[in-house]
Amino acid sequence: MNISENIIELKAKLPKEVTLVAVSKTKPVSEIMEAYNTGQRIFGENKIQEMASKFTEMPKDIEWHMIGHIQSNKVKYMAPFVSLIHAVDSLKLLKEINKQALKNNRIISCLLQLKIASEESKFGMIEQDIIQLLTSEEFLTLQNIKIEGLMGMATFTNDEDQLSQEFQKLNTFYTTHKDHYSLNTLSMGMSGDYPIAISHGSTMVRVGSAIFGERNYSI
Ligand SMILES: *Cc1c(COP(=O)(O)O)cnc(C)c1O
Repeated sequence: MNISENIIELKAKLPKEVTLVAVSKTKPVSEIMEAYNTGQRIFGENKIQEMASKFTEMPKDIEWHMIGHIQSNKVKYMAPFVSLIHAVDSLKLLKEINKQALKNNRIISCLLQLKIASEESKFGMIEQDIIQLLTSEEFLTLQNIKIEGLMGMATFTNDEDQLSQEFQKLNTFYTTHKDHYSLNTLSMGMSGDYPIAISHGSTMVRVGSAIFGERNYSI
């Protein structure tokens, strides 16, 4: 697997306004450094402890994105350094992020996850819950978080029509509300579906295996 070549080829295919998050979960620091040395500075992880230990070991100009589902009790471990939290799915979690951000004297950027997949297992809020959250009085008191945009994960399928429909649903919701809520980021698209996501307005793709190769969870 030539990580450097993969990044260069991938970057050449992305429109310049689309941000690449290199998803480095399960991958060792040595391989992430190869991407870093090719100029990549944004990396995504889905486990807080793993991200925190990589943060400690790696150069400090890296932006670390938390892309996975989060338990409130672990927010404190990433609050000092995380640059974007993608999968916020409740006011309760947002309040904890706000609390830990305040302790660190920071404003932490977040995305709200909209549920677009048909599978039961995918996390996220429905549209109505997102609007309710954004208009709640409690939300308006949170001074140490900033909602930058929305994130979604499509169904794990090869059915391009279904993927298109799911990404379009997210894009429609995003474009309807972006001006009112000052949103600027639409995080959607992974190795298998990022071209479709981009054709439906993605501004940020999260790509892992197309850069680093398949993940091996058994080691
Ligand atoms: C692992 C992961 C990705 C990257 O998946 P690939 O198919 O390897 O590109 C993207 N987003 C989230 C939320 C993930 O957990």
